[in-house]
This record gives sequence, C-alpha cells and structure tokens, in this order.
Amino acid sequence: MSPAKKHDKFTLVSELAKRRGFFWPSFEIYGGVGGFVTYGPLGALLKKRIEDKFRDFFIRRFGFFEIESPVIMPGKVFEASGHVDHFKEPMVECLQCHRKFRADHLLEEFANMPSIETEKLSLEEIKTIIEKNDIHCPDCGGNFGEPRHFLTMFTTTIGPYSDAVGYGRPEAAQGIFVEFKRLHELSRGRLPFGVVQIGHALRNEISPRQGLIRLREFTIIDLEFFFDPENPNCLFLKEVENETLRLLLAETRLKGSEETVELTVKEALEKGYIKVDWQAFFMVLAKRFMSSLGVPPEKQRFIEKLDWEKAHYAIQSFDQEVYLDRWGWTEVSGHAYRTDYDLKQHMEFSGVDMQIFKPTEKPIETEEIQIKPVAAKIGPFFKKDAAKIIELLSRVDVVAMKESLAQKGFYMLEGFKILPEHVEIVRRKKVEHGKRFVPHVVEPSFGSDRLVYITLEYAYRVRENRVVLSLPRGIAPIQIGVYPLVSRDGLPEKAEEVYRMLLDEGFYVEYDESGSIGRRYARADEIGVPLGVTIDYQTLKDNTVTLRDRDSWKQVRNKVEVLPNLLRKYFRYELDFGSLGEPVKA
Ligand code: AMP
Repeated sequence: MSPAKKHDKFTLVSELAKRRGFFWPSFEIYGGVGGFVTYGPLGALLKKRIEDKFRDFFIRRFGFFEIESPVIMPGKVFEASGHVDHFKEPMVECLQCHRKFRADHLLEEFANMPSIETEKLSLEEIKTIIEKNDIHCPDCGGNFGEPRHFLTMFTTTIGPYSDAVGYGRPEAAQGIFVEFKRLHELSRGRLPFGVVQIGHALRNEISPRQGLIRLREFTIIDLEFFFDPENPNCLFLKEVENETLRLLLAETRLKGSEETVELTVKEALEKGYIKVDWQAFFMVLAKRFMSSLGVPPEKQRFIEKLDWEKAHYAIQSFDQEVYLDRWGWTEVSGHAYRTDYDLKQHMEFSGVDMQIFKPTEKPIETEEIQIKPVAAKIGPFFKKDAAKIIELLSRVDVVAMKESLAQKGFYMLEGFKILPEHVEIVRRKKVEHGKRFVPHVVEPSFGSDRLVYITLEYAYRVRENRVVLSLPRGIAPIQIGVYPLVSRDGLPEKAEEVYRMLLDEGFYVEYDESGSIGRRYARADEIGVPLGVTIDYQTLKDNTVTLRDRDSWKQVRNKVEVLPNLLRKYFRYELDFGSLGEPVKA
C-alpha cells in the first residue's frame, strides 16, 4: 500500500469498524476469505436503520409492496433473464502462481486505461494490450494465460439431482419479475405500482479488495417499478420537477470529458436526457436519500452509462455516484430503464401470459388465429400419443406453426411431425374493449453495504485528536447514551430508571457507568451516539438531567419528564439541540 493510502479514510473507517464492532472480515480464525463480512452489533443495527430509512423514502410513502423471495433460484430463471449469457467478467490467470485477476481492472491499473475503454474490449483485444504493455502478475511477476470469461453467479444444484442447476441470485429483481402476475393481482390491478425487495445477493466477484464496496455476498435493495409506457402517469412529478440533478451525460463522456450539467428535473426531461419521468423521480429520491445519510449534494452525481457499459436488460442507465476518499467517484445506486425486457423473457420461457388488460375508449377489433386438432386424423396416425399431441397443440405457437405448415408442409412439435390434415386453422374476429400490454419497468437499485460504508466515511471526523462519528441522528444505531456522573450515591439507580424509561419510549439507548465521564463521552462520540443524558447530584434534587450534543459538545439541562416528547421531535429533526433545554455554562 502506498504511504498516501495508509491513513486514507478507508483505512481509518475499517480500523474503527473493527475496533468498535461495526463490521470485520468473516472467517478470520481460518485466515479469512475475501468478499465476505460479518456485521457486529453496531453495524447490524446501523445497516437496519439505513434500510428502514430507505423504506421511509421509497416504500411507505407511496404504498409500494415489499416482498421476500428465495436467494437460490432454478437455472431457468436466469436463462430467461439473460444472466447465464451475460453475467460474466473477463479474467486472466497467472501461469506461475495461479492467482486470477479481473482483466479490465488490470488494464486500468497497469495500462492506464480508463474503465470507459476497458469495458468494451473483446478477449482478443485484452490479450493484445496485456502483451503490448508487458503486464505481468502483480503478485509474482509471472506471465498470464489466455483471457477468458468467468460467470460471476454462484452455481449450485438443487436437491440431490446434479442436472437441477440452481444459481445464487445476483440481484433481487428476478424474484419480483417471476411473481409479477400475482403481485399485480394483489395490487388489485393497479398500475403504476412498485415492488421492493431487500435481501442477500450473491456475486462471485473475481478479486474483491474494497471492503464493503465489493462483496461476494451483500444486501441488495431492488425496486421494480411497473408502469404503462403509453401513460406513465407520474403522479409525483410536480413535487420534484424544480429539483436539480447533476448529470454526467453519455454524450459528454464520449468526448472524453467529465463535465457535469446541473439541470432541473423538468429541463432534463424536456431535453430528453432522462427518458422516463419515473426514472427522474427516483433519481431525485436517491439524491435526497443520500443527503439524509450525510452525503452533501456536491459529492453526488449521476453518470449515464454508455452502450457497452449498460446491463443487457437496460436501454438507459444512470449510476448514482458518491465521491470517496480512496476510489474517487463510486457507484452507490443504479437507475435502469429495463423496459418490458424481463417480463417478456419470463413470458417466453415460462409460457405464462403476464400481459395487463387496459380498457380503451373505442373497441378494438382484432383477428385471432386458432388451431383446432382434427381428432379423426390424429387418433389413427399417432395412436397412443394422440392425447398428448392434442394437449401439446393447445399450447403451440400458432404463428410459427402456421408458417411452417405453409412453407415446409409439416411442423415439428416436440419430436412429432404434424401434417396439415392434423389441424384446422380457424380465423376469428375478436372485438375487445381494451388492449393487452406488458408493463415497462424502471429500477432503482442500491446496495446496503455500500450505503453503510459511505455513511461511515462521511460521518468520520477528528476533533481535538479524537474520532467523532457524526452519524446523522436519524440513523445512528444508538440514539442516546445514559450515564450516571459517578457510580455511587444513588446515581446509577436513578440513571437506570431514566434508561428504562427511554427504552420503553422506543429509543435505541445504551447505559454506561464504566470509567470517567470524559472517557464515556469519548467512547460514545467514537461510535456516533448523538445525545448523552447525564444524571448528577442535581438530578436527585430536582429531577433534571444534562443533555450533551456529540457534535458541538454543548450541554443543556431539562427535566426528565419532558424528555420523551422533546427527544422524539429531536430525532425527527423537528427540533435542534439548542431547543432541548437551558444552556449549561461550561
Ligand atoms: P448493479 O446491479 O450492479 O447495478 O448493482 C446494484 C447496486 O448493488 C450497486 O449500485 C451497488 O450499490 C451494489 N453492489 C453491486 N455489486 C456489489 C458488490 N459486489 N458488493 C457490494 N455491493 C454491490
């Protein structure tokens, strides 16, 4: 590690996280395995509070659904979604020490290529650049073998059947798409509507070395928002249209520039920079959400992905990026316009119709082609298979069959040769008072672990040589510390009483009577407790306590009985610290 990196925020935050039990690398007693972390008591609680904040910003207010579906899914799901073909990264292996590296990352580091260039390279081109730049294994200096693609989904088998391939889901989205039909029914046919899933995702990353930023098992937050592309009906656009977004557009990036434009939502939509109203709406929510976690707007931007950087399912994608000390601009959420891609794929692979019926003002006349089996011909021809053929014909792709019969004179149906005399093709006029369509989807997608890391990095401050974790009070894992000034003369008993009362009121509270009060304050500052409540001799006389602010170290005094109401407002940002009581002179 270079000296510059030794004391960067990533190192400092990682050390603090380990020391105070936010998180640490898993399986340390066995030497550790890259890409897995364990959250300790404070980290698990912080993560939960951040996810709850997400729920507040993105789910509760809009009446969206939250569901929970399996992490292991049958192979068919990811064949349909396109992940089996696309969820791959280029990799090279050192022929000497056999370590494996992400090829594009190597080129970024050792051939000084920007990621905008490396992501579009073919394996052949990667090989040429490695040779041209004389790149060797950074660990042992060995030569690299042929670059190849590595499927970054974890593969398994389901039950004791080696042919029942399953995958660990790399995104929670598919768990929503495969349930779309039922979810839409549960929404009583509502459109637009949103469904969220917060749960573990598995990605077999090739060489994860960025702590919480890149894990092999992490928590993903996928929001799939379904809407009618002909009538997106963005109900909340008015509320956000004057809010600004900082955009780094694809057209700018293609010119080799990183210049951002700051536009209102209205302008960005009018100019066509963002294709769908709903997508712009969620980008605004994402910006507000990150601000609530302590990231100021000037440290956030949205970068439009280029064609070769976009996931296979997206026609437009923005990554929300946040500036981090070690890595610079880093993705925190993805905003993809997935169109009807996923639902259509699942319709095709499952045979289940997921279209929605939409009433129209005028009736629509269509012509329907139907296949009718001619039992009198099928029976003698197919004998014992006749019943099966009739059943198969009820699910056949009518258009493909009609074409094949006309062009080739037969149609192959699961190994059976169907001849024109076996079926009757009937045309029927159909009048419908509406039409069927597959909804479109925009998807904001976050990773909880990145959110935890970013929150910690932005909260990390040093004041008078001491670490103060200025976590926003709306998400701090411990909201209030309760301290008896000394551990005698009835103060601990009184403090316990206040502690119990605050717990009963629903706050996250900690009680601490160990060591000097100064040391207890310092420890609380380091784990980000926004407020201290100190019980002293005065408390025994008039039932007042001192309240101490973590960030300013200022103190005020007030009566115990008014605390629940005041503190509830304080944690909802309805009051500031100065309004919590009478100032205490230092
Ligand atoms: P993606 O589907 O790749 O756009 O990922 C969605 C979000 O998940 C990203 O914006 C990240 O916040 C998070 N994420 C993706 N990959 C990882 C990973 N390997 N470790 C931790 N978080 C991740």
